[in-house]
Amino acid sequence: MHKSQKVQMKQQKVYQTKDKDKNKKRATFTYYSPKIRKITNLFKHTNINIAFKNTNTIQQHTKPKTIDKNQDYNTSGICRLTCNTCKMSYIGQTSRNLNQKYREHIHYIRNNDPQSAYAQHILQNLHEYGCITDTMSLLKPTYKTSMLIPYEQLFIQTFHHNGNLITEQSTGEQNAFFQLAIDTMLTPATT
Ligand SMILES: [Zn+2]
Repeated sequence: MHKSQKVQMKQQKVYQTKDKDKNKKRATFTYYSPKIRKITNLFKHTNINIAFKNTNTIQQHTKPKTIDKNQDYNTSGICRLTCNTCKMSYIGQTSRNLNQKYREHIHYIRNNDPQSAYAQHILQNLHEYGCITDTMSLLKPTYKTSMLIPYEQLFIQTFHHNGNLITEQSTGEQNAFFQLAIDTMLTPATT
């Protein structure tokens, strides 16, 4: 039998026993708190419930914490977080890496804390987010910290211009040169 199949079977067994014992059920899921229940209840008729559970399986906890094949998530730079429901985007930047940035936003959502515009969008509209590969993409890798803010502003303006920016995100002060570039179609890729 394949190793991962074994793990999965074990895991199912654990869930079964936990389900029988109502008192211990809470221990099964790290995020099984009243706060999270409040959120999952809001998303009862959507797939979001599954997303919460997936992040708490034993399989995921025991898996080595590598970011698969996708090197993008280990890079600093400008990223886009897309809403699974309305497909609108949030633009962010990080001098650390995208993976950490993603976890930050998801942490806000799970704690019902609209600290970021993306979390605010998901929570207030009862929209859905997905796993990192569904939700986040790298727009522009850069290790130059001084370039993070200008690039972020350029993408914010571009996405806003194309009607793809979530309304919760402030567009900031519109940069005239960026606007000139956008208006003359010299836009960075927005997809
Ligand atoms: Zn949305």
